[in-house]
Amino acid sequence: MTAEAADAVVVGAGPNGLVAANALADAGWDVVLVEANTEVGGAVRSAEVTAPGFCNDLFSAFYPLAAASPVIKGLGLEDFGLAWRHAPAVLAHALDDGRSAVLSRDPATTAASVDAFHPGDGDAWLEMFAHWQRVRDPLLDALFTPFPPVAPGVRILRALKAAGTLDFARLAVLPVRRLAEENFGGDGAALLLTGNAMHADVPSDAAGSGVFGWLLTMLGQDVGYPVPEGGAQRFAEALAGRARAGGAVIRLGQRVERIEMTGGRATGVRLQDGTRISARRAVLADVDAPSLYRDLVGFERLPGRMQRNLERFQWDHATVKLNWALREPVPWTAPGAHGAGTVHLGVDVDGFVDFGADLTVGRVPQRPFLLFGQMTTSDPTRSPVGTESAWAYSHVPVGTVDDQTALAEHVDRMTAAVERVAPGFSDLVLSRSVQSPADLSAADSNLVGGAINAGTSAVHQELIFRPVPGLGRPETPVPGLYLAGASAHPGGGVHGACGWNAARAALATERRLGGVRRALLRTAWGRLLRD
Ligand SMILES: Cc1cc2nc3c(=O)[nH]c(=O)nc-3n(C[C@H](O)[C@H](O)[C@H](O)COP(=O)(O)OP(=O)(O)OC[C@H]3O[C@@H](n4cnc5c(N)ncnc54)[C@H](O)[C@@H]3O)c2cc1C
Repeated sequence: MTAEAADAVVVGAGPNGLVAANALADAGWDVVLVEANTEVGGAVRSAEVTAPGFCNDLFSAFYPLAAASPVIKGLGLEDFGLAWRHAPAVLAHALDDGRSAVLSRDPATTAASVDAFHPGDGDAWLEMFAHWQRVRDPLLDALFTPFPPVAPGVRILRALKAAGTLDFARLAVLPVRRLAEENFGGDGAALLLTGNAMHADVPSDAAGSGVFGWLLTMLGQDVGYPVPEGGAQRFAEALAGRARAGGAVIRLGQRVERIEMTGGRATGVRLQDGTRISARRAVLADVDAPSLYRDLVGFERLPGRMQRNLERFQWDHATVKLNWALREPVPWTAPGAHGAGTVHLGVDVDGFVDFGADLTVGRVPQRPFLLFGQMTTSDPTRSPVGTESAWAYSHVPVGTVDDQTALAEHVDRMTAAVERVAPGFSDLVLSRSVQSPADLSAADSNLVGGAINAGTSAVHQELIFRPVPGLGRPETPVPGLYLAGASAHPGGGVHGACGWNAARAALATERRLGGVRRALLRTAWGRLLRD
């Protein structure tokens, strides 16, 4: 049965799907967005899962990428209820010996913190930040537009000149450990850079980790790590509210089971209950790439090479997340950690290498690296006065904590890591909830196996290799179907660029005079997927 028709059907109301719906509605298309969950947001959601009055972000929590993203900034979400809040300090790395490196939004304060580890590192820090400021605008444009980023690339060349651009290209493949060694004498800056690099899944001694660490650290220095007042759900609701105001219809609690195709072209979707929604112009999928191609399209409807490429698709690591309601703020030994929104802990600079090696060889880390969020410190509305709403997550190799005993043992390891830097922490816990890798993927089917970035961020699966060797663009080999989720370039994180790029590509290709573009795409995919 066909229930309705629209210019575009968007599958999935994660931040990318919501951004795509906004962009299409802004362009005057009528849009139906279908979401499997009963809430919008995907991995941008919050709820009370520990104790009454404690708001817990269920997945993502800090939004430097959103704050810097021209896409999100351009949506004016403040008019739809979004307000950003900041912790007194952006981030701290707490060491077991009581020292900490602190990233502050004031560059001089950060410089003083890293200088305390090694005299001279403060000046080197300020130099690194000055370099970031020179390249920031074209870089963010390059990052958040579809491949190839020609115009922003020219602006980077203009800002850095030939030699500087070559150095910059080197930075793109440098391991973060090497980046820190080349620029700093002490561990303070190395801890900040490496901890931030570990927000992706690239080991600290592997090519490509440097640019992640550098990007997130410099963003933290520049725009901070803001949080939405009242919880992550408010961010998602602002995106949804704006889309609805533009005329988009959002259908919740309905899973798309199949992409409908006519004559090899995507023409709509079929829901789990059999309902069909026709798409006159395009279907945009905020769905992880393997599930989209294998389950919703079907391998049998794709060229054989596409299937083989997808069989090589590499997921990022699994995740265990703990949420706490704390009767008091965390009793950190390191003074610098008290005011930080995010605290990194559990390992030192060498410990990062051990942690990465454990994940690479499939061993559960005995000394895990934790990302810890102090949400009430960041936004006082998150829990009653004098208390703290907190969480921490850490990665494990896929499949290693699937049974309850292994999971409980790892929860104990994570708790012990917190106790080493905040003795007495456990005595403050009013209530705790655990999200296993299976819980994460049950709550958002894109988080396959507890992966948080819709596929590895390693260089062999970035740019034109994301999600599989191809164009590095949202267009798929199925005409009329666009990949709008974080499996597409530029990947994980809440910046909206994957959804935005997919919507822009659909608008350009599916307009009345888009015939030449459609023919070019057919030819390009035909050549790339020919056996
Ligand atoms: C624990 C955790 C912590 C993170 N921390 C941060 C952070 O602090 N900052 C940051 O920037 N990023 C963070 N991330 C990453 C970030 O949340 C994701 O990269 C981002 O949400 C991806 O957005 P998306 O729209 O592509 O997909 P998702 O947010 O995963 O949303 C996909 C949506 O599509 C729906 N869907 C999928 N298939 C179907 C279907 N067949 N039919 C209907 N609906 C469907 C899903 O239900 C879901 O709602 C974190 C992620 C996790 C899991």
